[in-house]
Amino acid sequence: MCYDVIILGSGPAGLSAAIYAERARLRTLIIEEKPLSGGQILDTYEVDNYPGLPGITGFELGQKFRAHVDKFKTEIVNSQVKSIELNGDKKTVVTEKGTYEAKTLILAMGATHRKLGIPGEEKLLGMGVSYCATCDGAFFRGKTVAVAGGGDVALEDALFLARGCEKVYLIHRRDEFRGARILQEKVKETPNIELVLSCNVTEIRGEGQVSSVLVHDKKTESDRELEVQGIFIAAGTEPNIALVKGLLEQDERGYILAGEDTRTSVEGVFAAGDVRAKQLRQVITAAADGANAVTSVEQYIR
Ligand code: NAP
Repeated sequence: MCYDVIILGSGPAGLSAAIYAERARLRTLIIEEKPLSGGQILDTYEVDNYPGLPGITGFELGQKFRAHVDKFKTEIVNSQVKSIELNGDKKTVVTEKGTYEAKTLILAMGATHRKLGIPGEEKLLGMGVSYCATCDGAFFRGKTVAVAGGGDVALEDALFLARGCEKVYLIHRRDEFRGARILQEKVKETPNIELVLSCNVTEIRGEGQVSSVLVHDKKTESDRELEVQGIFIAAGTEPNIALVKGLLEQDERGYILAGEDTRTSVEGVFAAGDVRAKQLRQVITAAADGANAVTSVEQYIR
């Protein structure tokens, strides 16, 4: 059986694409690798900028998206993808559960956390090093932790952790934050968040559990050791492109080059959501990509 479209990924872009594809009566298959649909928003405590749903948790929003797709009874295969063949009229996706063919592919594999690549980061993963404050923050109630990064996620993580932790060091490599002004204001108003600016985290220390982080002040060229029991790394994301690396045009950071119509350099292959090179990576832009991708799929198939 040849599907009209296979959607790889079940975050906001993939699920939005599925809704539009079902409404267009396209034979649709979603292939998801994770046990839960929703993508990165599952790790987000609160999504406060998706219109109409102020303050909704990321988990709830992910569930709502998935429930909307389930209304259409879309076929979903949960399996690791082993390889993809993009060229030709039929696109092939080989998974651990079987091989699937489609006229078109929507690549919506999203992005994952960037690592700092410093000593101690890998060794102490799960022992105080975390990339998800909403998943692991509760383990640090009453303790002192650090957050590394200066984007929306770092600011949100610091605010979230400050509710339960005694103290939060927010360590950023510049003295200006990248994240939203409203979050910056809230961070500055929160008494148990201490800003550690123009500093790089150079090492995470501890035996079996994080006990401190070493930071290097770029302005004074001095080092400082901060006693913390955990560090939450929020240094941005990298696209999940291992499967398609080199198979289509990508920018220097690996994001797939495609315009608003989501068309990639390969005929019949479309890129939606965080995996696409674009200005703003948020739920609303991912969902919009999913919708645009299906419009392009319809044009291509016709
Ligand atoms: P981001 O906006 O790319 O920010 C990453 C931060 O990490 C930057 O401050 C960056 O510093 C820093 N960084 C990167 N590499 C580093 C390194 N090697 N060492 C130290 N610091 C490093 O990523 P994000 O905060 O994860 O957000 C990802 C996307 O999701 C963004 O588009 C964001 O707007 C969106 N998002 C939105 C919301 C919301 O609107 N509610 C919530 C969460 C996420 P520099 O600033 O110096 O580059």
